[in-house]
Amino acid sequence: MPPSAVVVGAGVLGSALADRLARSSWDVQHVEQYAPGHVRSGSGDESRLIRAAHGADAMHARMSRRALELWRELDPRLVCPSGVAWFARRPDGWEADAERVLTSLGIPNERVDPTELFPSVRTDDLAFTLLEPEAGLLRARDGVRALADRAVQAGAERIVAVARPDGERVVLDDGRVLEADHVIWACGAWMARLFGDVLDLRITHQDVYYFGVPGRWAAPGVPGWVDFDGAVYGMGDLDGRGVKVGPDQEGPAIGSLDAERRADPTLERTARAYLGHRFPGIADAPLVGSRVCQYEMTPDEHFVVAPHPAFSDGRVWLVGGGSGHAFKHGPALAERLERWILASEAPEPAFGLGPERHHDVQLRTGGSPLSGSGEPSG
Ligand SMILES: Cc1cc2nc3c(=O)[nH]c(=O)nc-3n(C[C@H](O)[C@H](O)[C@H](O)COP(=O)(O)OP(=O)(O)OC[C@H]3O[C@@H](n4cnc5c(N)ncnc54)[C@H](O)[C@@H]3O)c2cc1C
Repeated sequence: MPPSAVVVGAGVLGSALADRLARSSWDVQHVEQYAPGHVRSGSGDESRLIRAAHGADAMHARMSRRALELWRELDPRLVCPSGVAWFARRPDGWEADAERVLTSLGIPNERVDPTELFPSVRTDDLAFTLLEPEAGLLRARDGVRALADRAVQAGAERIVAVARPDGERVVLDDGRVLEADHVIWACGAWMARLFGDVLDLRITHQDVYYFGVPGRWAAPGVPGWVDFDGAVYGMGDLDGRGVKVGPDQEGPAIGSLDAERRADPTLERTARAYLGHRFPGIADAPLVGSRVCQYEMTPDEHFVVAPHPAFSDGRVWLVGGGSGHAFKHGPALAERLERWILASEAPEPAFGLGPERHHDVQLRTGGSPLSGSGEPSG
């Protein structure tokens, strides 16, 4: 008999796992309260960056690289091969560490003149610009749907219901009770509500802004970009949505995931100020859209992918704590997680719930705090 699993959550992490297990002939029930990649999920935007650079951290670099292969295998159209440019403000900071790690892993990277990448760009505050030419942009919501649909094609049963844990069982709001060899909870920001007793998650309000720009700003011609020390990232105009600017400092706490979603005026000023600062040629580009999302932050920005401590036999797993950077890894993390659940490989200690977690490398463009005026820092 193949093993059975209930996977709760059809964001990128739950959908990638349901897909992975179903294609390995597991008997899978995949539960989601709304639709895969819905607008309030962390995975629900049109686009996400996929980059291998993670400062001095090689494990995430490898995992991202593997994920890129798996996204392409799922559907090459999900990946826009724009490259990702890192605006380094210090000669020996996070980007220099990343450069060393990428080079040691054989992942292409090069120092470039950013004026050759962007139609208009300010460079006088930069020590150098590092390009990852094989990184790029993911068509995120389409990717989540593709994973969830492929899981169904491989035999998974998709169930639309709100689930709650009851020991090792999953109780649905339609009265059904699901049991399986393994239950995996991958519920994004909702994990804080479901498992607040064992998880330390802060749920923060994060906006992205889209600006209407001339056609020469289209991706893949214009790459994705990250200003780590400035705590802002973005990308060229993907599929006509506009140039995207995402303030990456941790936003205000979100009280309820059911609240109305309105962009935060302070974050909008931050995005506008950064646009004018870095890309003077489009400083006055009109705002054409925004989207409110959330980060589910762990204290050290590492994910949580661990057995629930109350069930010593590893039957119940908690998967989340995306901390603003999980999307890209989805399919590669699922591949590893299958082995961890089967106990054919030891789980990644950095994702555990015990003291073996480490706090040494920033994994996202947390950067230094932005000033209240909305001016980019540093
Ligand atoms: C603005 C923004 C920009 C980002 N940029 C990037 C980026 O460029 N690159 C990158 O790699 N990452 C990025 N991230 C992070 C990444 O998008 C998230 O870490 C990732 O999408 C989280 O996926 P998830 O599957 O854990 O959670 P989610 O996508 O939130 O999915 C959880 C799912 O569980 C369902 N669920 C919850 N509770 C229940 C329940 N009780 N019953 C049934 N279903 C339930 C929810 O409805 C939801 O669909 C960004 C995040 C944000 C917000």
